[in-house]
Amino acid sequence: MQKIITVVGARPQFIKAAAVSRVIRDSYQDQIQEKLVHTGQHYDPNMSKVFFEDLDIPEPVFNLEISGGQHGEMTGRMLEGIEKILLAERPDWVLIYGDTNSTLAGALAAAKLHIPVAHVEAGLRSFNMRMPEEVNRILSDRVSTKLFCPTQTAVDNLKAEGVTQGVHNVGDVMYDVALFYKHVAMERSQIKEQLNLVDGGYALATCHRAENTDDLARLTEILKGLSAISKHMPVVLPLHPRTRKIVDQHGLQAYLDQLLVVEPLAFLDMVALEQSAAVILTDSGGVQKEAFFYGVPCITMRDETEWVETVDMGWNILVGASAEKIIDAATCRKLASNSLRPYGDGTASERILNELVKTI
Ligand code: UDP
Repeated sequence: MQKIITVVGARPQFIKAAAVSRVIRDSYQDQIQEKLVHTGQHYDPNMSKVFFEDLDIPEPVFNLEISGGQHGEMTGRMLEGIEKILLAERPDWVLIYGDTNSTLAGALAAAKLHIPVAHVEAGLRSFNMRMPEEVNRILSDRVSTKLFCPTQTAVDNLKAEGVTQGVHNVGDVMYDVALFYKHVAMERSQIKEQLNLVDGGYALATCHRAENTDDLARLTEILKGLSAISKHMPVVLPLHPRTRKIVDQHGLQAYLDQLLVVEPLAFLDMVALEQSAAVILTDSGGVQKEAFFYGVPCITMRDETEWVETVDMGWNILVGASAEKIIDAATCRKLASNSLRPYGDGTASERILNELVKTI
């Protein structure tokens, strides 16, 4: 029996961990014991608890309740907390996801104790070192034993950095998730009725990346752009707590008045809204891909993306934080074909676990 300690802390990690944990429960019960550590990075019930409930994620065995503060402070406290757990548990693997401070803390704590690290979503790069996520990714990859890449691009990025050992292109666990919840969300969610939305008659927007929220000029342009689109169709904006805080601090509320602003959505509601939207506008990594998986055109309000395949295939347009470009893209968007499958075959979770059980 192998023991895996999985470290999660932020919304996208709960979603990815849900896919892998489900396969452990269904197919690896006799071979793997998984214990979850929740760092506490995302703690609002609608950013955390609701995901554990809706996605059947096992209860975290350890809750560190660490959130807020500067990056160094938060990561340092997590490192200390995770180290104590790892010393007591001595797992065979530490499993980390994505690119948050929780990812980096898990990677560092394990590596210093010589416990092998498996990184899901390895090899992604934006080549923008000002993004906290980019720093977290590069450092986490550097100390990982197994690097589970979602795409060939990610494998190539690692190769360019001289990393070839332990690298596996398993596909994207988010694609596993999309296949699993696509129909479930449509059956269970009432959100479209609740918000009075017509299929294909609204835009769905998200904005939470630090590069946008922590730059007043960028955030204002984005909100201006969304506000202009709302003259043509309702724009639903599930507002991330970080963005809400900045909007309140800087008195940007007027830009939100025309939008359909809602609290962060439960996952099934989000997936239901994504599938029937006319267009998705986002700075989220996960949402860009979900737009592609569900065949909805995507406008990405960033200067670069890690998910370059969506842009290369013509499915996603990068518009930066320019109100004019956002409006142009939303009004004259073109549909390409999403018949290519650059994100694997929906079995990334199985491939990851298969690799882990055979390695130690
Ligand atoms: N998401 C959600 N509710 C929301 C906004 C996003 O369930 O109100 C989901 C979304 O469908 C995607 C994931 O959260 O699966 C993306 O997380 P986020 O945008 O926070 O992080 P990123 O993917 O950019 O790392």
